[in-house]
Amino acid sequence: MRVLVKGAGVAGLTVAHELARRKAAVTVTEIRAGIGGNASWLAGGMLAPWCERESAEEAVVTLGRDAADWWSAALPGHVKRAGTLVVAHPREASELKRFSQRTENHRWLAEDAIAELEPDLADRFRQGLFFAEEAHLDPRRAMEALVEKLSAMGVTFLFGVGQPALSGFDRVIDCTGIAAQDLDLRGVRGEMLVLRTCDVGLARPVRLLHPRHPIYVVPRADHHFMVGATMIESDNDGPITARSAMEFLNAAYALHPAFGEAEITETGAALRPAYRDNLPRVRLREGTVTVNGFHRHGFLLAPAMAKQAAELVFASASNTESEHEADRQRRSA
Ligand SMILES: Cc1cc2nc3c(=O)[nH]c(=O)nc-3n(C[C@H](O)[C@H](O)[C@H](O)COP(=O)(O)OP(=O)(O)OC[C@H]3O[C@@H](n4cnc5c(N)ncnc54)[C@H](O)[C@@H]3O)c2cc1C
Repeated sequence: MRVLVKGAGVAGLTVAHELARRKAAVTVTEIRAGIGGNASWLAGGMLAPWCERESAEEAVVTLGRDAADWWSAALPGHVKRAGTLVVAHPREASELKRFSQRTENHRWLAEDAIAELEPDLADRFRQGLFFAEEAHLDPRRAMEALVEKLSAMGVTFLFGVGQPALSGFDRVIDCTGIAAQDLDLRGVRGEMLVLRTCDVGLARPVRLLHPRHPIYVVPRADHHFMVGATMIESDNDGPITARSAMEFLNAAYALHPAFGEAEITETGAALRPAYRDNLPRVRLREGTVTVNGFHRHGFLLAPAMAKQAAELVFASASNTESEHEADRQRRSA
């Protein structure tokens, strides 16, 4: 089975992995010159189905609860299983209560327990919620490692190719995110920035609740912290606005004042591809399989959708083969 996967974001790479594992001959084409620069590159890398349930459908939990296992098995050593800490300043205590009522699989922490988990947040928050089963990874390292692993498995990568020749492939899988020719898709703008400081240490993603400007801070290697993310109904993928940057910086400073002295090492914005219900889809249309609509949950839901896509590719191929065989038998009868 020869399969062409278009798009080397998290959707395309996970689909390529599931197909290569099932012994398909896979070629991945990517219109950009290299890996990165897409929505996946800007992601926080949180594998946080229970926290995400606060604003998402139950399907995000059912499809996403095994994501950390998938990533751990695919890329040993990349997943950090340190949970998620959710905090709010005392004047926003009602936000924390609301968050707890809309989510499951958490426990309440008092001030001393927060300090035990995150010593640098000692004496800063009276209460928090801890989602112990959640995990995170560095999306950039994970994507680079996936390309390396897939190449070693025999997957061919063609960068700088937007219109590949389709002949010679049994199936085409479109994983082109917001660029896909799909009128049902919309863009949801997500902005982020990266700070660097040696004066704060966090072991896990921390979400700081606020009625208007909730943020999360995800620790990365070498004292970097990814701060995100806006959710704006817009097709504008231009640079981060001053307003969003100010909100992120204010919130990061409110989480810990040492962020006030941090270097801003990067800012960015990308469009999350989303369907109306904000849930991803695997679809077979006119011979092409599409895997799209990951919205806020590319790293969380791509493993489950990639498996579905690989199953569909093989099932539809065997259907096609049996249809051909039935057709051949009809003709020879
Ligand atoms: C700020 C931010 C934070 C986020 N945080 C998280 C998080 O913590 N956890 C999580 O699970 N999700 C998170 N997400 C969501 C996640 O990033 C997206 O759901 C995911 O990246 C979508 O992946 P994709 O592969 O569909 O799209 P993309 O990453 O955009 O990849 C599509 C690729 O297709 C390529 N392409 C386009 N046209 C063609 C063509 N004709 N031929 C070949 N290639 C083509 C593009 O160049 C691109 O590389 C976040 C998103 C943002 C913006």
